[in-house]
Amino acid sequence: MRVVQVPRAGGPLELVERNIPEPQPGWVRIKVEACGVCHSDSVVKEGLFPGIQYPRVPGHEVIGVVDAVGEGAKPWKSGQRVGVGWHGGNCGYCDHCRRGEFFACTVALLTTGISFDGGYAEYMVAPAIALASVPEDLSSAPSAPLMCAGVTTFNALRNSGARSGDLVAVLGIGGLGHLGVQFAARMGFKTVAIARGKDKEAFAKKLGAHYYIDSQASDPAAELNKLGGAQVVIATVTNADAMTAVLGGLAPNGVLMVIGAPANPLSVNPIPLLLGQLSVKGWYSGVSIDSQDTLNFSALHAVHSMNEVFPFERAVEAYDRMMSGKARFRVVLDVSAKA
Ligand SMILES: [Zn+2]
Ligand SMILES: [Zn+2]
Repeated sequence: MRVVQVPRAGGPLELVERNIPEPQPGWVRIKVEACGVCHSDSVVKEGLFPGIQYPRVPGHEVIGVVDAVGEGAKPWKSGQRVGVGWHGGNCGYCDHCRRGEFFACTVALLTTGISFDGGYAEYMVAPAIALASVPEDLSSAPSAPLMCAGVTTFNALRNSGARSGDLVAVLGIGGLGHLGVQFAARMGFKTVAIARGKDKEAFAKKLGAHYYIDSQASDPAAELNKLGGAQVVIATVTNADAMTAVLGGLAPNGVLMVIGAPANPLSVNPIPLLLGQLSVKGWYSGVSIDSQDTLNFSALHAVHSMNEVFPFERAVEAYDRMMSGKARFRVVLDVSAKA
């Protein structure tokens, strides 16, 4: 089979031939159909996490078909179409796992494409627990980003504490935000999109936003207050100052949910936090059942990731395009496409 691997931290992506892996007990083998190219793949490319073993195949937005099942890998069968996302597995018996906080597993937290080889490949193996069932009416390449960008925004929104009818703002309409706006509107929130520039307004409204705030032309906090204040702002941007700028627009007990990852620290003025009982909260994407819920919701409510699709052979170009920040909006490798 062919895989695209990172040979060493900081090394180039390279297309190489490997033997097709056999699934160990509790794991399944997947014939990959599509894999999204996510900014977090740079963790592998640049060696940003400690302990990554190289060569490593990145990719954690995978959709494919189960093709071999290891002993005891319940309940999966060959021929089922499945997705694999960021959360690749957890031990199930540490204190955090026993509290249901699987993302914080201290014994065997597995991350797809980081702890084990991911979806930039014709085949991959994954723990059975990491699999989400893909509904029939979602095609593979268009839906692959739902396995990371999708579940991250969907799961943050549904765990934000906002109730239907509440004012919910999505800060940034890029790879995460264009999905966040669609989910928020379809979940029944009064949905505000906040982005830079007037030109994005029509697009934001097409995605489902009821209001649009141009953060270049106006103070987003003041504009949110004119609408009554936001119960939740989902911050998808990678600029800490842009996040800070919306804090004053939260309603009492409002929550700033951080899912974008700025390189610089987020500095927060404590006074509005005290006076408004505000929270700043992070959100881990989700586990496999959260991904499965995301896929089902997307199929039911016509949420679509907008993608630039590349054939597998052009993975290097696809990765560079994603890193350029210019892609509209996600980048996907179509692995099953014939060259
Ligand atoms: Zn990702
Ligand atoms: Zn654990």
